[in-house]
Amino acid sequence: MGLRPSGVPAVMTSPTPTPSARGLHVITWGCQMNVYDSARMGDVLRPLGYQPVDTPDNADMIILNTCHIRDRAAEKVFSELGRLRLIKEARKAHGQNTVIAVAGCVAQAEGQEILARAPYVDIVLGPQTYHRLPEMVARAARAGGAVIETDFPAEQKFDFLPDTQAPQTPGNHTAFLTIQEGCDKFCSFCVVPYTRGAESSRSVASVLAEARRMAATGVQDISLLGQNVNAYHGEGPDGTIWSLAQLAYALADIPGLSRIRYTTSHPRDMDDTLIAAHRDLPQLMPFLHLPVQSGSDRILKAMNRGHTADDYRDIVRRLRDARPDMALSSDFIVGHPGETDADFEATMQLVHDVGFALAYSFKYSPRPGTPAAGAGMQVPEYVKDARLQALQQVLRAQQDAFNATLVGRSVPVLFTSRGRKPGQITGRSPWLQPIHVTGPETLIGQELSVHVTERLTNSLGGVLEERKVYA
Ligand code: SAM
Ligand code: SF4
Repeated sequence: MGLRPSGVPAVMTSPTPTPSARGLHVITWGCQMNVYDSARMGDVLRPLGYQPVDTPDNADMIILNTCHIRDRAAEKVFSELGRLRLIKEARKAHGQNTVIAVAGCVAQAEGQEILARAPYVDIVLGPQTYHRLPEMVARAARAGGAVIETDFPAEQKFDFLPDTQAPQTPGNHTAFLTIQEGCDKFCSFCVVPYTRGAESSRSVASVLAEARRMAATGVQDISLLGQNVNAYHGEGPDGTIWSLAQLAYALADIPGLSRIRYTTSHPRDMDDTLIAAHRDLPQLMPFLHLPVQSGSDRILKAMNRGHTADDYRDIVRRLRDARPDMALSSDFIVGHPGETDADFEATMQLVHDVGFALAYSFKYSPRPGTPAAGAGMQVPEYVKDARLQALQQVLRAQQDAFNATLVGRSVPVLFTSRGRKPGQITGRSPWLQPIHVTGPETLIGQELSVHVTERLTNSLGGVLEERKVYA
């Protein structure tokens, strides 16, 4: 998906460092943007001698990069911190110091509360300040007390970050690249405008330079990231403000970048130029994560989404006119305050009308400080449960049906890793499904044509075809 919220920790891993180096272990929760941020924190700390290590047990510094989008996010952080405290104490007993840093959106939202409840934490930093990490590490060491940096600084962190260094995926054929951050849309249910701050875009020059560096190291499939990525408005080399569409045309000129994706988009910012770019650029993948949240105009209004269900249907129609193989993915929230059975039926109708290839659906969960949390007419939990189950059943059937349409067809697959079974390699289709084939590892990094033969639970199986898609 786009900015996939998940409770599944993704961890930066690599071999144990040489004794002179310092070990860094980053635990990442939440969306792809956090994955990108974790890699960049590694870049920032590398000049200080920090090298990634596999486990927190032999790390001189542990960063917990947190996500605030779900219920009980803070409690999960405190529970994880309890585990890290034991590691810190065990290492201390052997004369080893461990710096614990809490980063990301929970750090931004909870700030001082983290230090009050977990005084063994050394650094608390928000998503906009991690370019200052080296200085924070030094301050924490000097002061022997905790450092907290959760302001929204005047400077743009991207102007102060070193060049990207760390491969984000094995083999480095796919990568995330953050181009835009923050949000000014203030949906009723969402914490992002409060934790990530106002919308801001990186300059075109800095995005293109990073994309060229990635392509030079073998990246072929690039995902541009932003909380509202299609609201991108970066300063262009000519001094004018460039849109995401203009940026996409420039990225498509970079040799080696054969697949360009962007996520997460807002329906309000899906303009004609971006839709035209999907028509013109084969590199723009025919798979778009475009969250709609609800199919009821009443609820969309209460959510402050700024569009109707028919606006969404119209965008999908224009996208499919421009690119007939376009598949859609979405996010849904059931049980927003005030949602009636009729509103929920409108959501089911929209799902039926659009037909999604993939979707993420959530029960509304009140986030402190957001308008919906204090609203009346909260929907009982048992009603949310029933609606979520009904919605997920239909969405799962649509996902299966979409995957089934590929069986018997030839699709281009960019191979990125070994498969789970011996002798297998795995790659992604343009629509992001994992596809497994029997083949040698030497094909990893190549985009090849695969004849899809079977639909598996969350992936597809196929056989390699003779015809090569890209060099
Ligand atoms: N910017 C994107 C957009 O406009 O749709 C999504 C951002 S949010 C990080 C990812 C998803 O989490 C949202 O699309 C929404 O479905 C879900 N979400 C956010 N706040 C939520 C809440 N309070 N309760 C349940 N789901 C929520
Ligand atoms: Fe949150 Fe809405 Fe902004 Fe998306 S558009 S990040 S859901 S406030």
